[in-house]
Amino acid sequence: MPKVLLIGAGGVGAVVAHKCAQLPEVFSEIVLASRTKSKCDAIAAQLPRPCVTEQVDADNVPQTVAMLRKHKPDLVINVALPYQDLHIMDACLEAGVNYLDTANYEPPDHAKFEYKWQWAYHDRFKQAGLMALLGSGFDPGVTSVFCTYGRKHFIPELTEIDIIDCNAGSHGQPFATNFNPEINIREVTSQGRFWHDGKWAETPPLSVKSPFTMPEDLGTLNIYLMYHEELESLAKHIPELKRARFWMSFSDNYLKHLEVLGNVGMTRIDPVRFNGVDIIPLKFLKVLLPDPASLGPLTKGKTCIGCQLKGKDAAGKDSAVFIFNICDHEACFAEVRSQAISYTTGVPAMIGAKMMLTGKWSGKGVFNMEQFDPDPFMEDLNLYGLPWRILNQPVFQTPNL
Ligand code: NDP
Repeated sequence: MPKVLLIGAGGVGAVVAHKCAQLPEVFSEIVLASRTKSKCDAIAAQLPRPCVTEQVDADNVPQTVAMLRKHKPDLVINVALPYQDLHIMDACLEAGVNYLDTANYEPPDHAKFEYKWQWAYHDRFKQAGLMALLGSGFDPGVTSVFCTYGRKHFIPELTEIDIIDCNAGSHGQPFATNFNPEINIREVTSQGRFWHDGKWAETPPLSVKSPFTMPEDLGTLNIYLMYHEELESLAKHIPELKRARFWMSFSDNYLKHLEVLGNVGMTRIDPVRFNGVDIIPLKFLKVLLPDPASLGPLTKGKTCIGCQLKGKDAAGKDSAVFIFNICDHEACFAEVRSQAISYTTGVPAMIGAKMMLTGKWSGKGVFNMEQFDPDPFMEDLNLYGLPWRILNQPVFQTPNL
């Protein structure tokens, strides 16, 4: 019976552990490993069935290989940080274990994510007879599945994608990020980038904004154009795609704090000498900010993440749909003691793992989400806590870019 080994005991790792524990028929054994074992033990104590815990530094490949050889899992779910991706993929290759993650590799000293480093592992995974599934969170992850579902069932000629990620929730803290602060701030302060007429175009960070009115009376928020990793794999796998953009909501309060932190140098990722030691300001800032896992009991409101898809239907007529999920922070906390950002990432990680372990998605090599049949994944989203809806009309008037 399948055994899964999770690496990373943060906000997302906790949700994946809970959701896997709810499905013993798929995940018969769970091992939870992370840098700080006490965090694994705290999560394991909340689960309804036994979960073995381990301490591991996933940047240490021999250490990770030894752990994998000891437990012999069928699959590693990597929910540590993007910096660990390549080391964990190396360990999986050496120990002969399949791999899944939720975030693209990033080099620690350069705030840039690109699939090239992980795509370069394709031949090695293929030769080893192993599968690696990249980006099985919500965005990236479900957003790619929404796109392939829309393309399969409604818009076979999919020329335009707008991914819209709104958080209408509030945690009441002066400034906090909903997932790892270091990764979040690196992403948000990067250049905006979007796919336009078959090539990439760039904008200064957070310089393009537009109001967006969410469905189901959730209200109107300002959303900002950003670069996000699924744009790269969607542009690769959907040849007819002409335009693809990613938008995220930020409150004025969040942006005000971020601007000040940036102005004073606290978001820098290069070393600064302080009292004879090198410190990286953003890493130090992470220590000062609230742990995203601590926001669970404080966060109220809902998230709304969806994809507006435009193109031509099977009859060649112009067509548009909006496929989206709405998730309630407090309902997530009641179920798995996490807020909706960790929940919307952890549930798709569990479903991606289920797709692999049940053979619904299979292959040898390194794959992105949009390379597989979206239907079984979409069914599972409805079953395991992230129900979706479709509106057969455009919901967002994209600004001219
Ligand atoms: P957290 O910072 O809460 O948790 C990360 C965990 O990884 C911590 O337990 C940390 O250990 C552990 N870790 C870090 N370095 C190592 C290492 N070298 N070896 C072993 N364990 C390590 O992050 P989140 O849970 O918020 O995010 C987890 C991942 O999910 C990130 O990659 C993030 O980018 C991704 N994500 C994806 C989303 C999507 O929709 N696709 C959305 C949100 C997040 P310690 O406790 O000791 O620090």
